Amino acid sequence: MPAEEFRKAGHEIVDWIADYLADPRRHPIMTGIAPGDLIDKLPAHAPARGEPFDAIFRDFQDLIVPSSTLWNHPRFFNFFSVSTSGPGILAEALIATLNMNGMIWKSSPAVTELEQVTLGWLRDWLGLPGSFFGIIHDTASLATMHAILAARTKADPAIRTEGSSPGMVLYTSEQAHSSVEKGALALGIGQRYVRKIGLDSAYRMRPELLRQAIAEDRAAGLRPFCAVATVGTTATTAIDPVPAIAAICEEQDLWLHVDGAYGGHAGLVPEYRAYLDGCARADSFVVNPHKWLFTPIDLSAFYTRHPQYLRQALSLVPSYLQSAENPRALNYMDYSIALGRRFRALKLWFVMRYFGQERIVAIVRHHIEMARELAQRIEADPRFELAAPTPLSLVCFRLKAGDQATGELLARIDRDRTAFLGQTVLDGRLTIRWAIGNIHTTQHDLDETWALLQRSAG
Ligand code: PLP
Repeated sequence: MPAEEFRKAGHEIVDWIADYLADPRRHPIMTGIAPGDLIDKLPAHAPARGEPFDAIFRDFQDLIVPSSTLWNHPRFFNFFSVSTSGPGILAEALIATLNMNGMIWKSSPAVTELEQVTLGWLRDWLGLPGSFFGIIHDTASLATMHAILAARTKADPAIRTEGSSPGMVLYTSEQAHSSVEKGALALGIGQRYVRKIGLDSAYRMRPELLRQAIAEDRAAGLRPFCAVATVGTTATTAIDPVPAIAAICEEQDLWLHVDGAYGGHAGLVPEYRAYLDGCARADSFVVNPHKWLFTPIDLSAFYTRHPQYLRQALSLVPSYLQSAENPRALNYMDYSIALGRRFRALKLWFVMRYFGQERIVAIVRHHIEMARELAQRIEADPRFELAAPTPLSLVCFRLKAGDQATGELLARIDRDRTAFLGQTVLDGRLTIRWAIGNIHTTQHDLDETWALLQRSAG
């Protein structure tokens, strides 16, 4: 692409992005298309000859955007509501421009060293110990899998050469994210060795049941090796009692991994930092800046006190990747399954510098306040009931009239397509999830959505 053509196309794209960010409500949040519709509209085969850029960009606008569920829409309240931001978007363009691969320090010193620096900054903002080693993964799922791998290596180093044998047991809660069990599956732990510990009335892991399960497994000749607690569960943002779980793990010599993919960001806000109590005692911790730190998908920050076990499990250096030993030159490939490492740290660096700690704290705090205010409104309406506490920026609620009425309400909201709410099942009952986390969401968005819910509830 000649430089002048690039410049012209680049300006058009930047204009489109700027318009989009100035008014992200101008595109409908959800599409009305049916599965397969987009496939049917696109050619079955790639072009033999190159096409003009204008045609490609027009199809992006006319075909791709209208076939999208727009996560960046301020009324996207499903899953965890996430958002990108201007500095993060611009950093993504620069990441692609330099196209560096930080496999080893030498393959791009900036990729490695900026990752060390930004993860150090984030660790400080979250109040985590300075001794935590940080590494970026694409997702929390991969980070948690690495935690389980490190835990297993610590418990049984021979697995590296001998392969795993059955009987190593991992503990998590009934409300843990499915990525915990998936990580165990991928590592060959075996589904029957994943224990899902029961919950209290606020959907938090019950430590006494964890202790009991460990004792029973030891008595049965099994080998407990790892527990995964959650700060901010996916369904309700429950916060497991990490201090009590950490005490059990220390006493029983189990690795403790804390999944703070979303809720870990509470550590940013001084008055909510207590939600991270006990996390400094964890062996590893994950938080996803792409969830609540306005960084484009994908960026998951993984920390561990024991990077040596990752290294012990994964370091493998073929001749083409050898480099001179230098104690300050970190080769991230020694600590992760993936060899390739894109320059994700750049976008976090841009976001952290552009907003600064005070503004980030103010936004996250405001999200939590908006959710709590919504929870009060919902509680005050006699047709609705809250289904779980609201410690963070997610409100779980339902119609008192029951599952059928709640399901019909959700269907009406979906058909309206001006807001996108989520759902889960708690204690066997259908529950609406209203997640706040988008940087563009305003009080007006919440008021309009609440009015829609009230109208649609009948
Ligand atoms: N952990 C929690 C608590 C989550 O809510 C999620 C996703 O929402 C994950 C892990 C998985 O995150 P990722 O998509 O980064 O793998």
